[in-house]
Amino acid sequence: MSPHGEKRFLTAAEPARAATEIAKSLYKIPALLSFWTRCGKPRCRCREGHLHGPYHALHWRDGAIQRRRYVRASDVPAVRAMLEKRRTERNLQRLAFALSLHSCRGLDRLVAEVEARLRAEGEDP
Ligand SMILES: [Zn+2]
Repeated sequence: MSPHGEKRFLTAAEPARAATEIAKSLYKIPALLSFWTRCGKPRCRCREGHLHGPYHALHWRDGAIQRRRYVRASDVPAVRAMLEKRRTERNLQRLAFALSLHSCRGLDRLVAEVEARLRAEGEDP
């Protein structure tokens, strides 16, 4: 498949939930980036600086390859929430790991911090 054909395939033919699935299941937490673009048509308004967009895409590295998957505007809130949830979970895991490393020093303070974060997380919708 040509690079152009592959790009069309990813943007148009992929199921709508593919981006949410990637946001949820990719080992590394992908970055959600928004961008504006020029279409290249000679008479288009974007030539004068009125760019098209915003478009949204997940970006991540697959070994040496930088990959991206377009995210429909209607899927952006769900994808953003999923990424935020995963970052929070990762931070809690790191905190728990740090806690195990520092179990002999400042234990009470760290326990209180973890509990406060878990409580705050539990109260979020
Ligand atoms: Zn244009």
